[in-house]
Amino acid sequence: MALDQATIDQLAASPVGPGKLLIDGESLDGAGGTSAVLSPIDGRQLTTLASASPADVARACASARAAFEDGRWSRMAPAGRKAVLHRLADLIDKHAAELAVLGVRDNGTEISMALKAEPGSAAGTFRYYAEAIDKVYGEVAPTPSNVLALVHREPVGVVGAIVPWNFPLMIGSWKIAPALAMGNSVVLKPAETASLSLLRLAGLALEAGIPPGVFNVVTGPGRVTGEALALSPDVDVLVFTGSGATGRRLLQYSAQSNLKRCYLELGGKSPNVVFADAPDLCAAAKAAANAIFRNAGQVCVAGSRLLVEASIHDAFVAELAEATRKMTVGNPLQFETQVGAVNSLVQLEGNLGFVADATREGGKIVTGGKRALEETGGWYMEPTIVTGVRPEHRLFREEVFGPVLAVTSFSDEAEALRLANASDFGLAAGVWTANLSRAHRMIRGIRAGVVHVNTYGGVDVTVPLAGTKQSGNGADKSLHALEKYTDLKTAWIQL
Ligand code: ADP
Repeated sequence: MALDQATIDQLAASPVGPGKLLIDGESLDGAGGTSAVLSPIDGRQLTTLASASPADVARACASARAAFEDGRWSRMAPAGRKAVLHRLADLIDKHAAELAVLGVRDNGTEISMALKAEPGSAAGTFRYYAEAIDKVYGEVAPTPSNVLALVHREPVGVVGAIVPWNFPLMIGSWKIAPALAMGNSVVLKPAETASLSLLRLAGLALEAGIPPGVFNVVTGPGRVTGEALALSPDVDVLVFTGSGATGRRLLQYSAQSNLKRCYLELGGKSPNVVFADAPDLCAAAKAAANAIFRNAGQVCVAGSRLLVEASIHDAFVAELAEATRKMTVGNPLQFETQVGAVNSLVQLEGNLGFVADATREGGKIVTGGKRALEETGGWYMEPTIVTGVRPEHRLFREEVFGPVLAVTSFSDEAEALRLANASDFGLAAGVWTANLSRAHRMIRGIRAGVVHVNTYGGVDVTVPLAGTKQSGNGADKSLHALEKYTDLKTAWIQL
């Protein structure tokens, strides 16, 4: 559906009701009170959000457990689950504009990107896993003839999902859709600053026919609501996307409680490597800008470290800076905006702190570096390019999760590879070269879950996103993701 600005404006003018918990199919207040939801667009209060207390979380988990045990979803015929998830995908499409606008008002992503990356990809993800339901088979093992051995793939039980604020519907669906497809129950904890569109999704899930209790949502602070979910003895598997610091805590909570399996996606500091023999340096410069500045850099796979061959460094940086200055920073609800709002004031201050540290350490700001559009009351930042960044600098090592690009030059392929891998993270990478052998050497050499060649981003649900090193473990997307949401069970039968 082609949407015009007037439709977006109309949706954005409607009041937003309070965000409540969804437990056992009922919309409830939380015992932890409420918090104000501020819109990053103008810093004003959008609505309130319920805070689930540990007791609320326990109730949500118990409801998910009861639903799992009585089989209302877990033992529904595969064709039945498939039909329900298809209906949900259709409802997401039907409400795409509403979902996207609600999400943007909550988290600040550009509407042009949000429409595709949020309801667009969520609907596609639910369809993908709906289709997988009746195509995943068990196994018959090659045993001696006096034995029959069957390998069943069973749902794990209750899945706890803790998700971040940058792409709530997309990342949420990457976890919720395969978990539900395999027959599990889910308790979801969205981020405090991006819960509203996921709550709406959960409402649509009920409408689609997912039985009450199978998909519960608890909102509230990470250190209260999220912690209670991660400690719950009723949660069998915990899936998470967010910061490394929280990921470490989740492993501790698992150890302190029931040893639930934890799958963590923890961001990155992804190298985008441009060789002098790239097929189109102009296209590479534009893509490099998009790879770090869209959604104000709040993208886990963002190409946040640009490594450029020394012989083209100055010319490439000039081209990149020109492309960057042309990007429209502003109200994310406007279609022409390319760089939307920073999600929170805390995040914005953190971004500016990175820039201050980078200049102190000897980096040079080529463009940007400051807060933008302060008069709106919202949280915006100029897309920022810093050159002369070295491996010991903070900007080289730590994830900003904002519109700040670190540029480092290299002299040959060996140095490019060494710099690309000089990171604790290993989520994504880009390589720009017309040399096929070099491209393959780099693909093999770079430790990352995805290596883009002569492009950056745009990978779809058919392929896994699986971090290495401190970027996490386990895959989101593709059929590989199903492994997280199923247990293998062997039946060994004497004939
Ligand atoms: P970011 O720094 O990008 O906000 P976080 O890791 O803090 O990333 O947040 C990602 C998700 O983790 C959010 O839903 C947040 O509420 C949740 N979270 C934060 N701290 C904890 C915690 N101690 N236990 C469980 N969940 C948490």
